[in-house]
Amino acid sequence: MTHAEHPNTNVKDAASGPLMTIPELPYQAESLAPAISARTMQYHYGVHTQAYIDNLNRLGATTHDVYSSVEAIICAAPEGPLYNNAAQAWNHVFYFLGLSPEGGGEPTGELAMAIDRDFGSYGRFYDAFVEAGTSVFGSGWVWLVADGGQRLSIQAGTNAYNPMRQGLKPIWVADVWEHAYYLDYQNRRGEALRRLADIIDWDVVARRYIL
Ligand code: MN
Repeated sequence: MTHAEHPNTNVKDAASGPLMTIPELPYQAESLAPAISARTMQYHYGVHTQAYIDNLNRLGATTHDVYSSVEAIICAAPEGPLYNNAAQAWNHVFYFLGLSPEGGGEPTGELAMAIDRDFGSYGRFYDAFVEAGTSVFGSGWVWLVADGGQRLSIQAGTNAYNPMRQGLKPIWVADVWEHAYYLDYQNRRGEALRRLADIIDWDVVARRYIL
């Protein structure tokens, strides 16, 4: 199944409409359970993600002639509310579009070879990913990214961190803000990250890599 891999940031219509709209998910929100419960989805997608997008559209309403896209805001806006809400909005949509109830297993093809090359094996990659995510102090994000030479690495950062700001290409992301897992796992962030492996949409992630 082919579906959206990146947030729809509505760039061409930005001057006359919102910078970003929340996409309809390509799966039923409740179908990610038990890795992510329906209740978490209801709040995390329906409330938190929508709020970041609404804030971005409000704060960005007068920036259309300064920034050509949400991605441009993420890469170039000074630290502050506009950057924070642009990155939070984009990160959340990117996160949810990288998951699927039919996901899990292991990557195949070019991405699988790159993971073996850069991490040693899929297992080592995922162990390192969980370790990086559990090591974020406070709220943040942990990313699988590719550099200009298609070399993979894991990048973790606090608050609204987005690696495009460092010129890196996002491939997959996990949200390690407490609101992402607290209803389902309470303080067990590592377990929440482990269970995410069951719903990674490797088809989407592999296409993002070769894009
Ligand atoms: Mn979140």
